[in-house]
Amino acid sequence: MKVLVIGGGAREHALCRSLSQDPAVTELHCAPGNAGIARVATLHPVDQLDGAAVTALAQELGADLVVVGPEAPLVAGVADPLRAAGIPVFGPSAEAAQLEGSKAFAKDVMAGAGVPTARSYVCTTEQEAAEALDAFGAPYVVKDDGLAAGKGVVVTEDRAAALEHAKGCDRVVIEEYLDGPEVSLFAITDGTTVLPLVPAQDFKRALDGDQGPNTGGMGAYTPLPWAPEGLVEEVLRTVLQPTVDELRRRGTPFSGLLYAGLALTSRGTRVVEFNARFGDPETQVVLARLRTPLAGVLLAAADGTLAELEPLRWDEGAAVTVVMASEGYPANPRTGDPIEGLDEAEADGTAFVLHAGTRTGAAGEVLTAGGRVLSVTATGADLAEARAKAYAGLAKISFKGAQHRTDIAAVAAQ
Ligand code: AMP
Repeated sequence: MKVLVIGGGAREHALCRSLSQDPAVTELHCAPGNAGIARVATLHPVDQLDGAAVTALAQELGADLVVVGPEAPLVAGVADPLRAAGIPVFGPSAEAAQLEGSKAFAKDVMAGAGVPTARSYVCTTEQEAAEALDAFGAPYVVKDDGLAAGKGVVVTEDRAAALEHAKGCDRVVIEEYLDGPEVSLFAITDGTTVLPLVPAQDFKRALDGDQGPNTGGMGAYTPLPWAPEGLVEEVLRTVLQPTVDELRRRGTPFSGLLYAGLALTSRGTRVVEFNARFGDPETQVVLARLRTPLAGVLLAAADGTLAELEPLRWDEGAAVTVVMASEGYPANPRTGDPIEGLDEAEADGTAFVLHAGTRTGAAGEVLTAGGRVLSVTATGADLAEARAKAYAGLAKISFKGAQHRTDIAAVAAQ
C-alpha cells in the first residue's frame, strides 16, 4: 500500500511512524512533513491547503490512501477533490468537517442528535453577547465560531474580558461553564460504524500546575486510571454513535477521525468540543499503544468497511508524551535554533522523539521551526515508568530557550 500523509506536525510524525511500522505499507510519503518525518517518509513540498495540488501529488504517486492530519486542510475541503478523483481518503469532507470548523454547527448537530453538551447561545451582536454572558454568569466561556488554531476560546471570571473577546469575533458561541476533569476520546468512523480508541488526557496550559496561557497542548498520557468504568461504552452510546448517525441523516456523512473533548462534570459527561481529526498531542500516546497495524484501519474507514474489521488490539501498558516548545511559545515562538541530543534521546530505545516544528538546515542539522518543536514519547508497563522514560529522553535534548512542563501525567502516575 502506498500512503500519503498530509501535514507536518508531531501528530503526522506519529501517524507516519505507525504507518512505517505496518508491513502492508510499501511506500510512505508526506506533504509537507518535517525533519523527523523525513526519516520515515519521502517529503513533498506541496501546499497542504491546495486540494488540486494534493490530488495531483496523490495521483502522481499512485497513492492507495491519503491521510489528512490537520484541521485546516480538512475544513478547506482538501478531502473532496481526492474523493472525487476516486482516491481513498482518511478524513471528512469540507461539509462534515464543519463539526470542527464551526462551533455553532457542532452545537446544532449535538442538539439534533441529543448529545449532552453545555447549554449555549450563538451571538452576532454585542447586545446578544452581553445578554448571554449574564444568562450564564461567571466563569464565562466565549468561543469564536470559526477555526482559530486553539486561540478561539476564552474562559474567564472577568466579564469585561469575556465581552471583549466576543466583540473581536464575527460570531460567537457563549456557553455554560463545565466543571470536572477533561478526557479526549477519539473514534475512527466510516460514516456508519464507530470504533472508539483508548481515552487520553492532554495538558492545555503552558506551565506546570495548569498555569499560564492556553496552548495547542504540552503533553498527554494514556490510559486514565481515574476514569470511571464503562466511560468509553457510555460515550460511544451517548455521543459518538448518535453524532455520526445525525451527520449521515443530514446528508453529510462523517468519515475519518471524530474527536470528542469531554468534561466529566458532576451532572454527567458533556461534550466540550468536537474535532474532525486526530488530536495533538494525544495521538502520540494513543498510537504508541495501538498494536493493530494502522494502515488497514484507516483504509477501512476510507472504504466504508470498518464493520468487517477485527477488534483493535492495544498494548496493556501506558504511554506518556512531553512537548518541548520554543522560547516565547505560545505568543511569540523563536525559531531557527539548532537542536542537540536527538539521537542520544533515542539511543537506548527508552524514548522516541516525534518532531513537530522542525526543519533540516543546509548542513543537515535539525533546526527549530515552530512553537511546539518536539513530542518526546515513551511507553512503559505503567504511567510511572512511561513518564520516567519520556523525561529521561527529554533530558538529553537541548536547544536555546527550550521549555516544557515537568508535571505531565504526574498526578495520574501516583
Ligand atoms: P475548545 O476549543 O472548545 O476545546 O476549548 C478549549 C478549552 O477551553 C477546553 O479544552 C476547555 O479546557 C476549555 N473549555 C471549553 N469549553 C468549556 C466550557 N464550557 N466550560 C469549561 N471549560 C471549557
